[in-house]
Amino acid sequence: GGVRAGLYSESDQVAILTPDNVDAVLFNSASAALIEFYASWCGHCVAFSPMWKKLALDIKEWKSAVYLAAIDCATESNRAVCVRFGITGYPSLRFLPAFSSNDSTGEDLRGFPRDVTGLRHLIIDKLESHKLPGPPACPPLEKTSAREIDSYVESSRGQNLALVFEEDDSYVGREVILDLLQYENITVRRVLRSEEELVSRLGVTDFPSVYLYKTHTNFTRLPVLREARAFYSYALQSLPGVVREGKPRPEVSDFIRKETEEQWRPFNKTRVYMSDLESALHYSLRVELASHSVISGEALIALRGYISVLDKYFPGRPPVKNALKSVNDWLQKQEGTSINYSNFRDALDTMSTDSYLPKTVRWVACQGSKQHYRGYPCAVWMLFHTLTVQALETGSKDPQEVLQTMRRYVSSFFGCRPCAVHFENMAQESMDNVNSLRVAVLWLWSRHNRVNARLAGELSEDPHFPKVQWPPPDLCPACHSLKPSGEHTWVQDEVLAFLRNYYSAQHFLHDFLS
Ligand code: FAD
Repeated sequence: GGVRAGLYSESDQVAILTPDNVDAVLFNSASAALIEFYASWCGHCVAFSPMWKKLALDIKEWKSAVYLAAIDCATESNRAVCVRFGITGYPSLRFLPAFSSNDSTGEDLRGFPRDVTGLRHLIIDKLESHKLPGPPACPPLEKTSAREIDSYVESSRGQNLALVFEEDDSYVGREVILDLLQYENITVRRVLRSEEELVSRLGVTDFPSVYLYKTHTNFTRLPVLREARAFYSYALQSLPGVVREGKPRPEVSDFIRKETEEQWRPFNKTRVYMSDLESALHYSLRVELASHSVISGEALIALRGYISVLDKYFPGRPPVKNALKSVNDWLQKQEGTSINYSNFRDALDTMSTDSYLPKTVRWVACQGSKQHYRGYPCAVWMLFHTLTVQALETGSKDPQEVLQTMRRYVSSFFGCRPCAVHFENMAQESMDNVNSLRVAVLWLWSRHNRVNARLAGELSEDPHFPKVQWPPPDLCPACHSLKPSGEHTWVQDEVLAFLRNYYSAQHFLHDFLS
């Protein structure tokens, strides 16, 4: 298993406190912290923990200004930390300002809201009333005025400026400002409806709405699917030239110079390519498995399941399907408790004109702008999604079959070991609850999005392919909606319909666009 502490795991966006890290994490930090003190036996804490995880995901972009932490006071070794903070009841929340010294115990947030929106607003209030110095990464959250904007435009050369027009009591502007905190070449400010000069200068009639402002006479309204935080933030983060801090700025064109011998090939970003899936099969079966010269025990169970699922559901070209069938037949006939990879490989490589598995890797939609980006893991995800969709389409009877097979494959063979640990954590949490084939497709989709959220901004992220919550509004408008509270929500039926189309064999492209 992975690193787990009480109610939270390493895969959540919550800093898990221990006696060993508490000083380094909390004190004299350049960001403020919101700390949950809980006891893993406390029912209220268990009930509250999904909210805390949701909030952590929701404000993960704000981390350099404010982050969430948690500590399990029921763990014997953590007791001293909880005593030092004077914690007597659970769950307790403390707000610890940036640059707090190690004798501070933070502000006790009694009667805190129990919903994500309320907590998020509370955090904004705390940041706004933060004593000086505030977190250096926290941008100005206060309203702006015509005068300020005019002097800003004079001094900033070509930097994108987005103005969020909103009602006086709205939090949307501040949320978007914080969502863009880690992005370069963009400044976001909020303008209240009562700021008449700017409102009339731009002729604003909708609150909220966002404008990209260049000069007095040169401004445009930001086109979005819905007038709400999630859509504004996504649209601004995707503006040409806007990049995460520390990431090289991609050229604003479809042409990407790859630092490999192979030439970059343009492709259709809205489609799945068979070439990626076949390359994933080749790599998995001929490279990844090859590092296990003898396969037995759990690994053999994993391999048998994997090949059987591929034989059943891989929607390949006829010769590829034939090859998978013959390998599966061969594997079923092996009766010993172990097999040698070399024998498996011989079975795999027995080819004829109507039965073969290509022996090359040719990434298309999984091309990376550099050699160490994307490629295999990208195609593994696509393969997994394809298999869950295909199991649904072909009327499989067992909703667990594909997911558990993926789980065993990842656990026994997937070369990225930290990935395997994280995936296993997520599987342990909820995979067993999947009770229909539709839910299986959606389970993998939502876990993949959790991984995307965790990896957004990491070194492994290809700057040309930023990790987004997928499918984004421009790819599937119907997948996105708003709750009455204004929170973004997924329309799961639409997401399912989208995935069934996107990952369906009939919809695959078989070669490059050009
Ligand atoms: P990927 O995330 O690989 O996605 C590939 C394609 O799938 C996208 O281009 C998009 O078309 C589509 N897609 C994106 N999101 C979804 C979704 N929610 N549902 C359906 N389709 C979607 N890397 C780490 O650094 N740490 C990890 O812990 C980690 N765990 C992983 C676990 C597994 C099981 C796998 C297969 C990979 C893991 N990786 C991990 C690798 C990482 O997730 C990416 O695969 C890699 O960084 C390449 O990213 P990418 O931009 O090509 O997009």
